[in-house]
Amino acid sequence: MCRHAAWLGAPRSLASLIHEPEHGLLRQSYAPRMQRHGRVNADGFGMGWYDGSLPEPVRYRRAVPMWTDANLPALARAARSGCLLAAVRTATVGMPIEETATAPFTDGPWLLSHNGRVARDALRDLADDAPSACDSAWVAAAVFARRREGRPLGESLAEVVVHAGAKDPGARLNLLACDGAALAATTWGDTLFLRADRPGPDLPYPGSSLPGPRPQGSPHAGGGVLVASEPLDDRPGWRAVPDRHLLLVSAGGVELQPL
Ligand code: GLN
Repeated sequence: MCRHAAWLGAPRSLASLIHEPEHGLLRQSYAPRMQRHGRVNADGFGMGWYDGSLPEPVRYRRAVPMWTDANLPALARAARSGCLLAAVRTATVGMPIEETATAPFTDGPWLLSHNGRVARDALRDLADDAPSACDSAWVAAAVFARRREGRPLGESLAEVVVHAGAKDPGARLNLLACDGAALAATTWGDTLFLRADRPGPDLPYPGSSLPGPRPQGSPHAGGGVLVASEPLDDRPGWRAVPDRHLLLVSAGGVELQPL
């Protein structure tokens, strides 16, 4: 099982998901606390972020253990954005260990990570091809095919998870994706946690939208929302997302829908 994490809110560095929290993704790469499948996440890692000067997200991924990349700490400190996604990987048995099998996968403005496993046959009628034989690359290709049909992020995730989950009852399909302005995630067989990190009023959860006007030019009032396979630290406020749900996070708030 891989571990993934994302942030939507006021601009932050990727180090805020990876290096700064006590149980950030660096620590989770060798000592995850809630992992049910696999013990370490040493088969690769990746991160993606949005730089206003570029039309598409910037992605950095490698098929080596996160702790071996001596260039990463400085890069993660410098890479800042209001929308961040990162992941560490333990390859499912039989899956290739290569960069093209490593999250985040990307297409246009979307970034996507898959925590779980699924029979590739369960995805064949949703995607024609994928850049790797890895099941996660096929999941990403299926989601990205929906994007190209103009479908919204959350709906694309939900459709692929429900379809593949019906075809492969043993599938685990925790997806985490973003498009620069919103996050979407599914729970289907593994854990997922959410934490509102903000000055100002609490995010309603589960709920539909934030009450009241937001300060001009600062849609998140300095705060935002963290989503992660397992909590990045021991601060209070982490909430478990129930299994078989779709989580949507945008500047408008947080929504939870059953799948
Ligand atoms: N099945 C995917 C892979 O092999 C994801 C694995 C995981 O969640 N550990 O990369």
